[in-house]
Amino acid sequence: MKPIYFDHAATTPVCKEALEKMLPYFSDVFGNPNSQHAFGRESAKAVDGARDSIAKIINCKPNELYFTAGGTESDNWALRGVAHAYKDKGNHIVISPIEHAAMIVTAKELKKEGFDVDFMKVDEYGFVDLDHLKSIVKKGTIFVGCMLANNEVGTIEPIKEIAEIAHSVGAICFTDAVQAAGVLKIDVKDLGVDLMSMSSHKIYGPKGVGALYIRNGVKVQSILTGGHQERTKRGGTTNVAGIVGFATAFEIADKEMQKNFEYVSSLRDHFIDRVLSEVSFVKLNGPRENRLPANADFSFKFIEGESILFSLDLAGICVSSGSACSSGSLEPSHVLLSLGLPEELAHGSIRFSFGKHNTIEEVDYAVDTIKTAVSRLREMSPLFKSEGEIKYV
Ligand code: PLP
Repeated sequence: MKPIYFDHAATTPVCKEALEKMLPYFSDVFGNPNSQHAFGRESAKAVDGARDSIAKIINCKPNELYFTAGGTESDNWALRGVAHAYKDKGNHIVISPIEHAAMIVTAKELKKEGFDVDFMKVDEYGFVDLDHLKSIVKKGTIFVGCMLANNEVGTIEPIKEIAEIAHSVGAICFTDAVQAAGVLKIDVKDLGVDLMSMSSHKIYGPKGVGALYIRNGVKVQSILTGGHQERTKRGGTTNVAGIVGFATAFEIADKEMQKNFEYVSSLRDHFIDRVLSEVSFVKLNGPRENRLPANADFSFKFIEGESILFSLDLAGICVSSGSACSSGSLEPSHVLLSLGLPEELAHGSIRFSFGKHNTIEEVDYAVDTIKTAVSRLREMSPLFKSEGEIKYV
């Protein structure tokens, strides 16, 4: 039996259309878009077309889009680039505590350089506490950053309101839309953000390519220097095939958005309803409303997330424990700890992320397998034997 893939928040397969559009740019149309000859011009035309198309989808000008090697680079560039460009204006940075490691680790490094880093408060579902944010921004706050949607628990944040608060003190507002772009309708002007990260491989495009939207007029110091690419802001020979694949995948995601949203969220809701009613001592992490359509994240009390992950893997079901990028680490999830979960539950979480090719039969098979795996693992758990009778809330 072919394994069932429920890990679309980690990555997605490249769609046929994107793959076909990319292929010529590996061989026949191989010119460097910066070259001043026919080969170069043909590649440059493809990159310009991709830029125009993504810009139109998110409602920005093509010259406000910079191609990068993905979400991690875009996040790093936005935070470090703004901090360094505006350090004469202030040194205060505010981010949410549930950001991707690409932001959290960069913020910690900036702290070592002397920047003052504060974290917004989030509630038990992961929503940013706007009153708390209002109380911590000040003159001298140069950067306010919060993801549009969380990769672990799926919470969709009130970015428009966050941007208004950031701008009330003259700070730059950034959002990481890696999990949201291509899934939710995004209009950067309407959201009011100054910078936004995107990544191709979460939306059926190739890996290793993404973009950073930088509103015209915002200063961002470069982190990759030495090349004239991307209007001298991001050095490095352009990934033409990747960019073409990214734009094609984005166009398809935008066209299919409503249909995919409805279908994938119906799978997710069926899954959540069944798990909550058929498995005991289980906690849904993140909200029921304002949640990414693909995401369901559960903590199973008395069991390590890794043990469930391995049991499901043996049964041919591919999921993730904690965030994709931090899985493999034995640390509890920083996202779940920020939501106030005790360590043992933050260790026991499993993220299921559905995709447009999944079926309801696969979802039902997963629930049945979880039920069996959870009861088998709990039978081996001394903690369950001693505490299991106490109702968990
Ligand atoms: N930001 C978020 C919210 C993510 O989920 C991820 C990847 O999981 C990234 C950033 C990193 O993106 P990339 O894999 O393109 O470097």
